[in-house]
Amino acid sequence: EALSGPRRIKALDQNVVNKIAAGEIIVAPVHALKELIENSVDAGSTSIDVLVKDGGLKLLQITDNGHGINKDDMTILCERFTTSKLQQFEDLTSIGTYGFRGEALASISHIAHLTVTTKTKDSSCAWRAVYSDGKLVPSKPGMSADPKPVAGKQGTQITVEDLFYNVPSRRRAFRSAPEEYSKILDVVGRYAVHCEGVSFSCKKHGDADMGVSTTSSASIIGRIRNIHGSAVANELLSLEVNDKHLGFKATGMVSNANYNVKKMTLLLFINHRSVESTLIKKSVEATYAMFLPKGSHPFVYLSIEIEPHLVDVNVHPTKREVNFLHEDEIVELITEKIREQLAAVDTSRSFLTQT
Ligand code: ADP
Ligand code: MG
Repeated sequence: EALSGPRRIKALDQNVVNKIAAGEIIVAPVHALKELIENSVDAGSTSIDVLVKDGGLKLLQITDNGHGINKDDMTILCERFTTSKLQQFEDLTSIGTYGFRGEALASISHIAHLTVTTKTKDSSCAWRAVYSDGKLVPSKPGMSADPKPVAGKQGTQITVEDLFYNVPSRRRAFRSAPEEYSKILDVVGRYAVHCEGVSFSCKKHGDADMGVSTTSSASIIGRIRNIHGSAVANELLSLEVNDKHLGFKATGMVSNANYNVKKMTLLLFINHRSVESTLIKKSVEATYAMFLPKGSHPFVYLSIEIEPHLVDVNVHPTKREVNFLHEDEIVELITEKIREQLAAVDTSRSFLTQT
C-alpha cells in the first residue's frame, strides 16, 4: 500500500541492534563453540572438554583448566568490546592471541542463557555468574545478580543453554541436531589436531563414548591417527617452508601419493586460528591432481604463521576467509614444496621397484 509521505525514522532499540549483530556472528552453534575454544586456548589451557545436547541448541558446555577470569572482571565480561587482549588500535597489528574484539561472549549472552563459572589461581573459591543481554542477571527471580562463590578447580566453564531461544528465524533455519553435532565434532577435531600440549574431548550428553578424545601428550601424527584414522596417519609427509622476506612460516602433515579419498580434508590454520581459504584449497587440489587418480583427493593439515602486520585482522568475524599480504607467492612456495615431496617419494618408489 503506497504511503502518502515518508514514514518517520526511528532508532532501533539497542537490545534489538545487539541481537541482530549477534545473530550475524553466530549463525550456528558451532560458531559459538569455535569462539569458546579459542578463548580457552588463549587462556593457556592444557585440557578442554566439550559437552553437547541437541546439536548445541539445548546445551553447549566447555570446561577448561586455563588461567580463569578475575572475579572483579565478571561484571563487564559480557559487555560488547570488553577484552583482556587488546588495549589500543596499534595492538591489532601485533596481536598474538586469537580473539581481539571482545564480542564473542557479549554476542552469546544476547541469544542464549549464559553461565560462567571461573577460578583463578589466587582465588580461594570459584565464582559463578549468569548473563543476559550483556549484563549480570539473577540466576533465580528475587536473587542478587552478583557472582556467587562455588566450589571449583582453576579454570573456566562456560555453559550456553537454549541458543537462539529469542531468535525464532534462526531456530527455524536450524536443520538437524546430528548435522550440527557433526559440525561441532569437525571444529573440535581441527583444534585437537592443531593444539599440541592440549587434551581435547567432546561428547554428546548421555553418550558413554567420546566423539573426540585426545591426550595432551599426543604428537601431531598421534592426534591425526586418533581423529582421522591409521589409514591416513601411516601415509603422511611432514612439511616445512619459510621465507623471511615474505614473513611467513608453514608447517604441516600432508598425505603422500599412496593415499587418496573421495573428499579432500583440509585442516588450515593461520596464526593458530582455524580458517578457510579458497585460494589455498584450489592450489593444493591442483598440486595433488598430478599425483592422484582422477577424482580422488588428499588429506592436508597446514599451519601457517604470518607476521601479524601482514594479516588483515580487521575482517568481520563472519568472514571465515582470511586475507594476507603476498598470498600468491606464499601459496606458490607451499604447493611447490608439496610437489617436491610427492615427487621425491614417487622417484624413490620407482627406483626401488627397478632395482
Ligand atoms: P576476546 O576473546 O575477543 O577478548 P571474548 O568475548 O571472547 O573476547 O572474551 C572476553 C574476555 O573474557 C577475554 O578477553 C578474556 O579475558 C575473558 N575470557 C573469555 N573466555 C575465557 C576463558 N575460557 N578463560 C579465561 N578468560 C576468558
Ligand atoms: Mg574470544
